[in-house]
Amino acid sequence: MSDLRALYQEVILDHSKRPRNFRALADSNRHAEGYNPLCGDRITVYVKLDGDRIVDIGFQGSGCAISTASASLLTETLKGKSRAEADELFAKFHDLVTGQGNGGVSLGKLAVFSGVSEFPVRVKCATLAWHTLKSALEGEEKTVSTE
Ligand code: ZN
Repeated sequence: MSDLRALYQEVILDHSKRPRNFRALADSNRHAEGYNPLCGDRITVYVKLDGDRIVDIGFQGSGCAISTASASLLTETLKGKSRAEADELFAKFHDLVTGQGNGGVSLGKLAVFSGVSEFPVRVKCATLAWHTLKSALEGEEKTVSTE
């Protein structure tokens, strides 16, 4: 288990140092800002939604290693997914980091955050990007392009 934990730690560190999709999308049609006052994490999530599908996603912001790595892995995981799939993954991810899940089965790389459940104060860091994405997907109906 300690080997696995070391591997998880390594993945989180890698994604926090070199976050994937760390950019504002020029052609996004949804975005939202998130802030976690407990830790000072700030994030903006950009989504290009085509119908019901997330065709592109990026983020910018600054925060702790957990929040940055979580946002990075979120964008990697959700690109190409439907809104329903995103909702389902968020529910599973939330269970995982709050210790109610099944240990990350079916979460793929997102399982690296299983250790967060031992640090309740970190749960908000790990879920910030997800909450922000949810708000981006639910809001801003008025700015959606009809093209
Ligand atoms: Zn944080």
